[in-house]
Amino acid sequence: MKALNCPLCELDLEKEKIFYADQSFIVLRTKTLKGHRERIMIVYRKHEHTIPYKAVERALDILSKIGRKVFSYTPKFVIMDSTFATINDHWHLVASDLDPKSEDFNQILATRWIKVVDNTIPEEGEV
Ligand SMILES: [Zn+2]
Repeated sequence: MKALNCPLCELDLEKEKIFYADQSFIVLRTKTLKGHRERIMIVYRKHEHTIPYKAVERALDILSKIGRKVFSYTPKFVIMDSTFATINDHWHLVASDLDPKSEDFNQILATRWIKVVDNTIPEEGEV
């Protein structure tokens, strides 16, 4: 189901920078980079506020794996909790580098990090 006036339901995939897509999820560059070289998010295809735990786990695996390529220019990136998210009724997670010069660096520090990915260490068991 799509919701009216939801920017994540209304994404025009032709115009977005898509890094990954399957039946459940899309990984794409965020609309605003906020001063980061890269800033990406994983979006659930359906307009749901919460998704099953197993799906969250899978989303984290996908975002970690794609992030390792997208953020290959930096040793670490973080997957953040959606506390400060502008859109909070459509499930998504943002991953960002840790550039102190970025516009939202203080907000990144104030946000709970769901996962820190160390790009210098290969991780096993990711998709
Ligand atoms: Zn939506």
